[in-house]
Amino acid sequence: FRGQVTLDGPSGTGKSSVARGVAAHLGAAYLDTGAMYRAATVAVLDAGVDPADADAVARTVAAARIEVGTDAATELVQVDGVDVAARIRGVEVTRAVSAVSAVPAVRRQLVDQQRALVASAGPVVVEGRDIGTVVLPDATLKVYLTASPEARAQRRAGQLGITAPDEVAVLAADLRRRDEFDSSREDSPLRPAADAVVVDSTDLDQQGVVDRVVELATS
Ligand code: C5P
Repeated sequence: FRGQVTLDGPSGTGKSSVARGVAAHLGAAYLDTGAMYRAATVAVLDAGVDPADADAVARTVAAARIEVGTDAATELVQVDGVDVAARIRGVEVTRAVSAVSAVPAVRRQLVDQQRALVASAGPVVVEGRDIGTVVLPDATLKVYLTASPEARAQRRAGQLGITAPDEVAVLAADLRRRDEFDSSREDSPLRPAADAVVVDSTDLDQQGVVDRVVELATS
């Protein structure tokens, strides 16, 4: 395999695990663009900048050195030379990342950086929201990964260690609300590219999805 695979879709679809699995299987590099938006958010929070202050956010992110690795087997995420791989998954960052990633100048900067990383990576699997539509419109294979809000809530609950059915139902309602909000936005990055293959992971386990994407990439 020598091409580029884009893997887009909402959170809770198991996208990251699938992307890593596919990259490992294809012997390809792997780029997690969500990790870049999260690292940018660390820079904003550490600078004491309000994530809602778009101008200050843009300035702060422009001045930060954001580095992510492209090796599927190891996770490297740094801001100004400091390892932030663990911090980017925390609640503080997760809460603020939408506001930071909505700033157009931040998106332009990170999209440029993503294209440069891909250009030097060789065969690669890139995951995010807008990879097939914006970052790599000429990719070899575009996959859009979906799952029902219930399945996504179940996955999130597993990650958070939540088991009570009524709490899982609250997570599902929240995901449904965010889906509606995201897809109603004019500039929403959350839509499949016209030439994307939509893969529904609701009734598939992780290996099943990896196998399906590998099959699409190598057929
Ligand atoms: O995929 P992950 O949950 O790590 O992404 C974190 C956030 O970064 C998303 O909720 C979204 O706001 C933003 N993002 C984005 N465009 C991408 C990847 C992530 O706006 N290509």
